[in-house]
Amino acid sequence: MAAHPVIVAIDGPSGTGKSSTSRAVAARLGLSYLDTGAQYRAMTWWMLTNDIDVSDPAAVAAVAAKPSIVSGTDPLAPTITVDGADVSGPIRGPEVTGAVSAVSAVPEVRALVTELQRSIAAAASGGIVVEGRDIGVVVLPAADVKIFLTASPEARAARRSAELAGVVGGPATDVARTREALVRRDAADAGRKASPMAKADDAIEVDTTDLSLEQVVECVVGLVEERRGRRRS
Ligand code: C5P
Repeated sequence: MAAHPVIVAIDGPSGTGKSSTSRAVAARLGLSYLDTGAQYRAMTWWMLTNDIDVSDPAAVAAVAAKPSIVSGTDPLAPTITVDGADVSGPIRGPEVTGAVSAVSAVPEVRALVTELQRSIAAAASGGIVVEGRDIGVVVLPAADVKIFLTASPEARAARRSAELAGVVGGPATDVARTREALVRRDAADAGRKASPMAKADDAIEVDTTDLSLEQVVECVVGLVEERRGRRRS
């Protein structure tokens, strides 16, 4: 019997190197890649652009099915569009980042986005790396390999500010303020009622505080290969 395509779930808070790790692992192993945070950001961008009051869960729920969110899953060039428009830049801006936890906490939003994620994973015939907050627990509980990345708040804030400076092209942002915003967003993501950020019981936790990106990638690639080998034998 042919083995089913490998599914790798990588969860954890932001600033742990989740996106860089997930993309690199997918590229190394020839797998597709899905950034589920980008999908919630795209939904949030659409809400803000259409003047929906994101602090009103009922207002968000009422229109959540309207935008058409499409993710390109090539790890070397991932894309995200809303109703055909490329939103990869605007979804990283401060307005979206400040509103995304409220939008992603709305159960109707999660139900729609989760379904989208499952259909993308099912269509990835060559296997896929899916990164997010609730992938191993809620979206793809039968994933072959589940990783939960962590790092100290200091390391995460430093990485996020460096990343923001790169994306926005401006001066390095204040690390203390970034740290505060990160901690606030994590608390919202981990404390919400609908599928909060959580580590699956069978996930392997990797603390990336003192590891380079290459070391984390090596570690995850090793875990996936070990799992594939076990499945073959
Ligand atoms: O990973 P990123 O920081 O881009 O995620 C943005 C936000 O999307 C998170 O703060 C969280 O509110 C939401 N999210 C989620 N579930 C996921 C991925 C992201 O709720 N699987």
